[in-house]
Amino acid sequence: MIFHPAHEISQKIKKGKLSPREVVEESIRWAQKLEEKIHSFITLDPEKALERAKKIEEKISRGEETGPLAGIPVAVKDNICTRGIETTCGSKILKGFIPPYNATVVEKLEKAGAIIIGKTNCDEFAMGSSTENSAFFKTFNPWDLERVPGGSSGGSATSVASYQVFLSLGSDTGGSVRQPASFCGIYGLKPTYGRVSRFGLVAFASSLDQIGTFARNVKDLALITEAISGHDPRDSTSLPEEVPPYFDELQDSPRALRIGVPWGLLQEGISAEVKEAFEDALKIFERLGFPILEVSLPHASYGIPTYYLIAPAEASANLARYDGIRFGLREIGEGDLISLYKKTRGEGFGAEVKRRIMLGTFALSLGYREAFYLKAQKVRTLIRKDFEEAFNKVGLIALPTSPTLPFKLGEKVMDPLQMYMSDLYTIPISLAGLPAISIPVGLKNGLPVGMQIVGPPLSESLILKASHVFEMESGLSDLRPPILEEIGV
Ligand code: GLN
Repeated sequence: MIFHPAHEISQKIKKGKLSPREVVEESIRWAQKLEEKIHSFITLDPEKALERAKKIEEKISRGEETGPLAGIPVAVKDNICTRGIETTCGSKILKGFIPPYNATVVEKLEKAGAIIIGKTNCDEFAMGSSTENSAFFKTFNPWDLERVPGGSSGGSATSVASYQVFLSLGSDTGGSVRQPASFCGIYGLKPTYGRVSRFGLVAFASSLDQIGTFARNVKDLALITEAISGHDPRDSTSLPEEVPPYFDELQDSPRALRIGVPWGLLQEGISAEVKEAFEDALKIFERLGFPILEVSLPHASYGIPTYYLIAPAEASANLARYDGIRFGLREIGEGDLISLYKKTRGEGFGAEVKRRIMLGTFALSLGYREAFYLKAQKVRTLIRKDFEEAFNKVGLIALPTSPTLPFKLGEKVMDPLQMYMSDLYTIPISLAGLPAISIPVGLKNGLPVGMQIVGPPLSESLILKASHVFEMESGLSDLRPPILEEIGV
C-alpha cells in the first residue's frame, strides 16, 4: 500500500475500497520501524491519527464529501502550529509548547481529509541546511545513513523519501524545502511568497518564509500544494489570486517554453557529479522540445551575503518573543526579570540561533542599519530585477538545487560559512519571492541529485506541468532508497 501514489490511495478510500484506518496503521507501523534508523519525527501521534481515521471512515460510510486527500497520512514540520500537539521548532526553548490553535495549512490539510501522523525534526527555528542544528537529535539520509538529509526540513523530506508518509509540509526561507528534497531524491515545491498562508508558521524571517510541500511524484505534489494554497485574511502578505486546479491542469501538456540557465552563477563550487546530472537533465528537456538558452543574473552571486543580513535581522526581531514569560522554557535565574531573560535565552537557544540573533541585532543597530540592512534590501531589489529581466527572455529558469551531493554528517556543522554555501542556488530565488521546485534528476555515487525549475510569480501550475513531463520522460519518480530493502518491506 505504501508504494502507491497518494492520489490513487485517496480515490480508493473515497470509494470505500480501502479503509483509512488500515492505511494509517500501515504508515505508523512503518514509521515506527524506520524511526530508529532515520529519526524523522520529534512527535509521533498514533492515537490522534487513528481517531481521525475513524472519523473519516464514518464520514465516508455516511456518504459525505471527504476532500482530495481523504485518509492520506502526512507529516508536518515542527515549526507549524498544530492544536494540542507539541510544536518545538527543533528548539529547547519551545519544549512543552502546545499551541492552542492550528496553522491555516493544518486546517486546510484537515479539510482536505489528510491525517497528520506526527511532527518532523528540523534545524532549530529552521536555521540550517542539514537538520544537525536540531536541539534534539540528528536525522539521517535514507540513501546513506552517514549523510545529512539536508535541511532545515530534513524530517519532512526523509519521512516522505523513506515511505513513512505519502506527503509532508516543510518551510522554505532560503532553500529549506528544495535542498532536502534534492538530497533525499523527492519532489519539493516552494510556492510564490504569499501563495500559502504563513498564519501559524513560527516566524523565522517573515519577508522570506514560505510553507512548501514534499511528495514522491508530481501529481501528489500538485494535490497537496493545491490543498494548502489560497488567500488567508489572517496573513497580511497572503495573495488574493484564485488558486488554479494544479492537479487537473497536469493533464494539459505545457507549452514548450524556453528554459534559461544562469551559467554565470554555476561557475563556482559546483561538484562534477551535480554538473553532469544537471546537464543530462537539460538534454532531456531539449528532447522534450524546450529550447535551452543562457540567461544572466548578474547580482545573484550576492545572494548569500544579502540573505545573511536580511534573514538574521528579521530573525532577531521575531525571536525576541522567546523571553521565558510567554512560551515554553522558563529558567528563573537569580530571581530578577533580566536574569530570567538571560538564563532562559542562554539555555534555550542553540549556537546557530544565537549567532543569527547577534548578527541580526548588529545589522539593525544604530549606525549600521544603513550600511548593512538597508544596503542588503537594495541588493535584494537588484536580484529581483535580474529575474524579471530574465523572464522577459525565457519562460522558466533551470539550475541545480544544491552545488554538492548530500554531505557527511559533521562535515560542515563546525564551519557555518561552508554550511551557508549549500544554499548558493536556492537563496536568490527566495530573495526574489519566486516559486521553484526541486525535482530528482538522477543518482550519482548512489546519491540523489536535484534540479530547480523556477518561474515568474504565481507560475506554480506551469512549473508543475514542466516537472511532470520531465518526470514522465525520465521515469524518476517514486525512487526507493536501499534502506527499504535492507529493512525488508
Ligand atoms: N539554510 C538556510 C538558513 O540556514 C535556509 C533555511 C531555510 O530555508 N529555513 O537560513
